[in-house]
Amino acid sequence: MLTTSESVEGNGPVAADRPSEVVVRNPADGTTVGSLPNLDADDVAALASRLREAQPAWEQLGPEGRKKHLLAWLDWIVDNQEHVLGLVHREAGKSWGDAQIELLVAVEVINYYTKHGAEFLADEKRSPHNVTALTKKLRLLRRPHRLVGIITPWNYPLAMPMMDVPGALMAGAAVLTKPSEETPLAWAEVVRAWNEEIGAPPVLGVATGFGETGRAVVDEVDMIQFTGSTATGRRIGVRAAERLIPASLELGGKDAMVVLSDADLDRAVQGAVWGGLFNSGQSCIAVERVYVEAPVYDEFVTRLVGEVEKLRVGHDAQCAFDADYGAMANENQIQIVERHVKDAVDKGARVLTGGQRTEPGLFYPPTVLVDVDHDMLAMTEETFGPLLPVMKVANEDEAVRLANDSPYGLASSVWTTSSSRADRVGRQIEAGGVNINNAMTNVFQFPLPMGGWKSSGLGHRFGGANGIHKYCRQQAFVSERINLKSEIHWYPYTRKKAALTDRMLRLVGMHDWRRRLGRPVK
Ligand code: NAD
Repeated sequence: MLTTSESVEGNGPVAADRPSEVVVRNPADGTTVGSLPNLDADDVAALASRLREAQPAWEQLGPEGRKKHLLAWLDWIVDNQEHVLGLVHREAGKSWGDAQIELLVAVEVINYYTKHGAEFLADEKRSPHNVTALTKKLRLLRRPHRLVGIITPWNYPLAMPMMDVPGALMAGAAVLTKPSEETPLAWAEVVRAWNEEIGAPPVLGVATGFGETGRAVVDEVDMIQFTGSTATGRRIGVRAAERLIPASLELGGKDAMVVLSDADLDRAVQGAVWGGLFNSGQSCIAVERVYVEAPVYDEFVTRLVGEVEKLRVGHDAQCAFDADYGAMANENQIQIVERHVKDAVDKGARVLTGGQRTEPGLFYPPTVLVDVDHDMLAMTEETFGPLLPVMKVANEDEAVRLANDSPYGLASSVWTTSSSRADRVGRQIEAGGVNINNAMTNVFQFPLPMGGWKSSGLGHRFGGANGIHKYCRQQAFVSERINLKSEIHWYPYTRKKAALTDRMLRLVGMHDWRRRLGRPVK
């Protein structure tokens, strides 16, 4: 039986009543979707050791060799999409449309990193820094960390690991993944396909379990990529520092949407609805708070409520597309939403639509709040749920000040028909991503870095060459062009060699001719 007791550090059951399995239930109707083993530290160590053993041959394959396996994997995933997305749909209780978007991420990320892998991993020539180094050939090589750990949360069971794993595999690393205990089934299935269906080398593994299993992963790997809550991210950062391994952390967000008075309101309203409510608001880069300039505030709010009320709530059948908006992933997440709504209402906010559970199952209706301010949790803490709190602002300056009044800085959006206003406002926002007249779209522009500022993260998750380079160690590769018998600074030390060294040092290192030629300085 699963226990709800919390361990001292991180999520999951304490060791004494450790379950042997992770049982996954559909949050929309409570049915059991499947179960997987709950790996302990010894299991994780054994898995890590097998992956590490397979890594050198994987690195030796080179980017073109690795690309073939990644593309075969992509083919398998697309050929079996109903099966894989069916698991996503049920384990997360999503609408079918929300589940389907996860496939897009897999296709796009695998294609981007397989297409550019060889280019991003090519040795870089560097010019010698001065004439004395001209005898050297300098190259910067990128060699993978042997074993990379990738820990992900529950909001996108397939898409979350797919943002990280292709880059790490293309880099030549072996990869030990740890999906969330809430939603491990689809990911475990695509890892099974890698190992059993497409003839790929055994360099991709999955450690299923709770927070304790995640901790064991951090203790085994040579580099850790973590996506999840800021609290867990801090713990992992501390442990990575103790182990002296690099950590890349993608954490929470409280993304601001700024609607200026000249915005195209049709688009801004639709953008707020999708950006705030897609996946039941359970996206790190969801619109979490909206600031609207006073002249268009009333119209924006009226239209927003109208559009939100059109959403079809439910857990539709596979491939049915007759719901837009599904369940939330777990009871804990709903309770956070309820706490934020109650806190806001207690402090004077009004609920214009939603605001109370009505359906059975873990559904929370899409909710619009007004008369909100920064004394309310809904405007300051990450909700990670279907709330759209809308606040009236007097002007751009107030919008920027409030948007930046947050410990988080993941992404943001600015809505205006003026490109100069867009640039002026966007450039003042303290966040890792700024979208002009769109929401969440920065994450899907793969040549650009995706990462959070402030408490939203450390490093960049993916995007461009960094999405592969971050899984590599830089190696300085220096070859002699001319092999002399000895070097002037090698043993034995003599006056003659020292004088020659001094002359050369002056000639190349000094900045006036007197010093260069060793003449007395006046
Ligand atoms: P979480 O931090 O509770 O768990 C994330 C993962 O870490 C899970 O797999 C969990 O088992 C594992 N874990 C828990 N304790 C651990 C420990 N001590 N050591 C190692 N692993 C451990 O997060 P969650 O509740 O699954 O996800 C929701 C959070 O994720 C939200 O805060 C959201 O903002 C964030 N998130 C961020 C991004 C991003 O890209 N910035 C994307 C999605 C979600």
